[in-house]
Amino acid sequence: MKESLEINKIDLINKPTALEFMPRLSDHLGVTIYVKRDDQGGRGEGGNKLRKYERILGDALANGCDTVIIAGHYQSNAARLLVASACRTGLKSIVICKNFIPRQNDAFDRNGNALLMHIMGADLRPIPQDKDYAEAMEDVAREVRKIGGSPYIIPFGGSNLAGTLGYVDCSVEISKQMLELTGKEADHIVATAGTGATMAGLLAGLTLQQSTSRLWGFSILHPKKESESITDNLAMQALHHLGSNAQVKATVDDGYLGEGYAIPTRQCLEASRLVARLEGLFLCPVYTAKTMAGLIDYVKTGRIGSGDSIVFLHSGGAPLLYAYYDSYYK
Ligand SMILES: *Cc1c(COP(=O)(O)O)cnc(C)c1O
Repeated sequence: MKESLEINKIDLINKPTALEFMPRLSDHLGVTIYVKRDDQGGRGEGGNKLRKYERILGDALANGCDTVIIAGHYQSNAARLLVASACRTGLKSIVICKNFIPRQNDAFDRNGNALLMHIMGADLRPIPQDKDYAEAMEDVAREVRKIGGSPYIIPFGGSNLAGTLGYVDCSVEISKQMLELTGKEADHIVATAGTGATMAGLLAGLTLQQSTSRLWGFSILHPKKESESITDNLAMQALHHLGSNAQVKATVDDGYLGEGYAIPTRQCLEASRLVARLEGLFLCPVYTAKTMAGLIDYVKTGRIGSGDSIVFLHSGGAPLLYAYYDSYYK
């Protein structure tokens, strides 16, 4: 397992992704802020799931699987990038869709990620609200086997050991790029916490490198405690896998989540407008704009000191803007 995850890894995102200075946002906030462009550098419009799929799909291919199955919804970045990665590598993909987000209009059902998946010819399988995802994935896997196929079930959000290792890679890139650009490590690294592998990989990677950067996660999905324990768990698995028994303790703030996953907050809409107007960079109201709202508030309230250097992880998701267009015209 240890070696095979590395041997079987495939390239889905052009590495290293860019690290860019954001001069006007820095001036505006009184800090020095860089953006790690994990929203760019791959197919399917880019995003953090590509780093996770490098080892997950590598494992699927090495095991002779021909069909990947994911659970999500019509606006899932994880599903859109899985379909794109499957198209690219010649795998079939099946997306099991539940409409659990309290938002139903034509844009949400057909634009954004739904549109991109439709164009790629994705096999979307709607299931009822009360049906269990795991059960639905097993049903589909059985169906694939029945017709002679070999299915591979993608873990929720791509967050398992293989996915986490993708973000260990990213943390090494960030440290190296900051050293090259500024001669020192960032004071802070800020990322979005969802299903956990992104934060966990960064935490494990920074721990391995004995980095002095402080990692802050902003939750867009789980309550603080749950998000922290998921992160710690995955980070420990990655560290163990990489031969370290270092202890870690993630810090995740759920104060900018608002009413819940995929429900925009006023501050996140403002944050995405601000970054677009100052930097021409797009953050989406489900993920990175909530994180940016947290970061802005941390600077305003002094939890991040003025003059500090910050790396903000742009984990992707801009196609969601088209699905949420109505929030911006209000
Ligand atoms: C999935 C996703 C995240 C969250 O990453 P996790 O590894 O699930 O915590 C953050 N940003 C975007 C744009 C995503 O699609």
